[in-house]
Amino acid sequence: MPLPDQRVLARRDEIIKALRQIVPGEGVIDAPHELRPYESDGLTAYRQPPMVVVLPETVEQVAAVLRYCKGQNIKVVPRGSGTSLSGGALPLADAVLLGMGRFKKILEIDYEDRLAVVQPGVTNLAITKAVEGEGFYYAPDPSSQIACSIGGNVAENSGGVHCLKYGLTTNNVLGVQLVTMEGEILRFGGKALEAPGLDLLGIIVGSEGLLGVVTEVTVRILPKPETAKALLIGFPSVESAGQCVADTIAAGIIPAGMEMMDKPAIHAAEAFVQVGYPLDVEALLIVELDGPEAECSHLIQEVEAIARANQAGMIRISRDEAERLAFWAGRKAAFPAVGRISPDYYCMDGTIPRAKLPVVLQRMNALSEQYGLGVANVFHAGDGNLHPLILYDANKPGELERAEEFGADILRLCVEVGGVLTGEHGVGVEKRDLMPAMFSEDDLRQQQRLKCAFDPELLLNPGKVFPSLHRCAELGRMHVHRGALPFPELPRF
Ligand SMILES: Cc1cc2nc3c(=O)[nH]c(=O)nc-3n(C[C@H](O)[C@H](O)[C@H](O)COP(=O)(O)OP(=O)(O)OC[C@H]3O[C@@H](n4cnc5c(N)ncnc54)[C@H](O)[C@@H]3O)c2cc1C
Repeated sequence: MPLPDQRVLARRDEIIKALRQIVPGEGVIDAPHELRPYESDGLTAYRQPPMVVVLPETVEQVAAVLRYCKGQNIKVVPRGSGTSLSGGALPLADAVLLGMGRFKKILEIDYEDRLAVVQPGVTNLAITKAVEGEGFYYAPDPSSQIACSIGGNVAENSGGVHCLKYGLTTNNVLGVQLVTMEGEILRFGGKALEAPGLDLLGIIVGSEGLLGVVTEVTVRILPKPETAKALLIGFPSVESAGQCVADTIAAGIIPAGMEMMDKPAIHAAEAFVQVGYPLDVEALLIVELDGPEAECSHLIQEVEAIARANQAGMIRISRDEAERLAFWAGRKAAFPAVGRISPDYYCMDGTIPRAKLPVVLQRMNALSEQYGLGVANVFHAGDGNLHPLILYDANKPGELERAEEFGADILRLCVEVGGVLTGEHGVGVEKRDLMPAMFSEDDLRQQQRLKCAFDPELLLNPGKVFPSLHRCAELGRMHVHRGALPFPELPRF
């Protein structure tokens, strides 16, 4: 992280006073003990109290705060619910932390057009809760869905166990309203399935708070499938489970969800939620099939046959909705469950081509021995998205550093086998310095040019994603030309 700007810190009182004029009442937090809850996000190895927290309530207040900060050359870190596992919402000592937690309204639900317009602080699960009475749901379901905000989901392009079939956040967002550092209020996409012009919405989703502050999101809602059944399938090895995943997809079956847990993760989850996971298997697959009843029954038989051909031992099919949810409960609670068996854990997030799963797992086990640290694995197996949880004890000198090195080696391995550095948790500060393992200097400069087009002073969430930042002028900034340029004459026939 860059050193705090002492000139900004020297003006702290004056800045707080100005912010209070924009967001009156209890919307500005500056007392040291009240700043502490904001000092980290889900990546708790990093902590930094912010200079001040601002909690606006209206879009106009967001725009005024950003305009003021731009005018005063003050950095801004946007924050939703603070569950990021990559340190995306980590504050800076000399920056304003802009919390979007008061934007909690569901503005519109349109069942006919199958969409909902919501404010960014609405939690992921609250969207489904708002529409389930009419038989609808919002498909992307991060395990943190009870807490994480839809604004954070947009910024991280979050996924979940049902994204194999229904897509990530980017496939389920139709439009956003975004406020730039200049205080401009922009709209990308809308209510239609397709918007004219360049796909700028695709740039905003996954932009990790670097381009603007999301103040409204239009999401798709889907009708609940007629039937949904989950299978619990136990395997004698992670390799055989991995092969079952590959064979299922190769057979043209796209389950609604297809998740794998290895032995340490199974034991931790079962001890935590007691849903009847088998303890005598090396790997467990949870496969969900959904759709019309007849299709679902047919697919269950096909998956069962593929699993048996891959040495599956036990197979259980959920008998009712309560049991289906129970099968998922262990997987969704896997992270906190692992927190019970180890003082600390470091959750990694990389993606590999599915076929490389066995070889990556073997090499990960070798790394586990090399670093002398245990690892529990949960995967979005159908997507090839790995979540190794590295077990360590932060109170033992050097263990955190070893866990970080181990994690970095796992991510380098993902890139080496043709995968990518992140599946859904974002780059943040966690994977920032690994970006050169995947992108050339030219790639990174081109990506930064995009940031410069939105935020030429580099005030929004600096220190995240880019391993180094260049002055925009040095990169050949994309100038916004306010007047009309002469068009070349078009030939007419
Ligand atoms: C136990 C646990 C389980 C998890 N499981 C999953 C999972 O299954 N799938 C998954 O994808 N993630 C998962 N996560 C990670 C995390 O929940 C997601 O990344 C989530 O989208 C973050 O949302 P948030 O509201 O907490 O955002 P924050 O943590 O507050 O912020 C995340 C990033 O978004 C930016 N941001 C937030 N709000 C806005 C806004 N309104 N405008 C612009 N930028 C904004 C921030 O600057 C930051 O860069 C998990 C986390 C935990 C702790």
